[in-house]
Amino acid sequence: MKPDLTSFEPFEFERYAPGDDDISFDIHFCGMCHTDVHFVQNALGLPPDVFYPMVPGHELAGVVTGIGKNVKSFKIGDKIGVGCMVDSCLECSSCGEGYEQYCATGSTFTYGGMTTYGRSGEKGKPTRGGYSNKMVVHEKFAIKIPDSCTDLAKAAPLLCAGITMYEPLYEHNCLKGGKTVGIVGLGGLGGMGIKLAAKMGCKVIAFSTSPSKEVQAKEAGAETFVLTSDPKQLEAVKGTCDVILDTVSAGHELVPYLDALKTHGKHVLLGLADKPYEVPATAVLFGHKSVTASLIGGIKRTQEMMDFCCAKDVFPTVDIIKQEQIMGALKKLDEKNDQIKRFVVDCSTLG
Ligand code: NAP
Ligand code: ZN
Repeated sequence: MKPDLTSFEPFEFERYAPGDDDISFDIHFCGMCHTDVHFVQNALGLPPDVFYPMVPGHELAGVVTGIGKNVKSFKIGDKIGVGCMVDSCLECSSCGEGYEQYCATGSTFTYGGMTTYGRSGEKGKPTRGGYSNKMVVHEKFAIKIPDSCTDLAKAAPLLCAGITMYEPLYEHNCLKGGKTVGIVGLGGLGGMGIKLAAKMGCKVIAFSTSPSKEVQAKEAGAETFVLTSDPKQLEAVKGTCDVILDTVSAGHELVPYLDALKTHGKHVLLGLADKPYEVPATAVLFGHKSVTASLIGGIKRTQEMMDFCCAKDVFPTVDIIKQEQIMGALKKLDEKNDQIKRFVVDCSTLG
């Protein structure tokens, strides 16, 4: 039977025994990414016998409880985060350049993955994520949450939503401001995209299918809100964006957004859409426009993003939920996140 969003139940398991390079920590909060919905529904079509039982969660924030003898950058009591990856080969050119997410032989996902390289437990075992109480991680894949951060519930979503938006803003030269950035799809990722781009000094145009999100989008820093069902509002922003970050979690038309790009503009796909996109040649030829994509971010950049967000007070709006609310929250995301917010599991309620 294919598991669905209502087939959750408590599951007891042991983390692997920590080695000399490992850090053990108590997970206090774990963000709920729309990818959790896709993975629970097995959107990638992985073999169910190794994929389930699945413990989702790749936005973990907690406090260190133990360190191995080689660990240099953490001590007991430090705040710590883990994002979407817990290992990669660390030998290929992508890993060498700080793009572990594009590891030539595949990075090990925090959950729904298989330990391959031996730094996330014995090889050939399934990885299990952050809707849980405790975690063990190799120092190389741990992110330091600065002491100044007093709210781990708000720091947790930075580990995926934050870095997923920071990375393409970095890649497309938005860090120093002065660009016009379109954000499409105003949920967990979209909300972080608005806040990050605005804090970097960019002008933000928020594109949404939900009229109710206009006030919140503007409070987050969007200068313009475009309701995508209104052709007049789309017409008004034609040719205005340097880069568009598209976080929509389902298939949709790209042409209205390609029209919103300036000459040389880039449309960056981030959502895990269930259908292929159609891109007419004329929509990209005239104006030298590109459709590209981006996947989370490497460890060094994730740390950079965490430091940026904590220093500049850039955090998501969160809705903290208990164990018994998990299935309902996943269902709400599946239908459509109705606010610009992230659900975050309070892991002290699990068990
Ligand atoms: P989310 O909170 O559920 O937000 C997705 C937004 O997409 C919704 O709020 C909605 O915004 C819009 N939307 C438009 N049509 C929709 C439809 N038919 N069904 C659902 N949503 C629709 O999701 P998220 O956590 O931000 O994640 C967004 C996507 O990015 C997911 O596919 C996720 O798997 C993917 N993701 C990718 C990466 C990466 O590295 N590339 C990392 C994390 C997540 P409006 O109401 O404003 O239209
Ligand atoms: Zn995610």
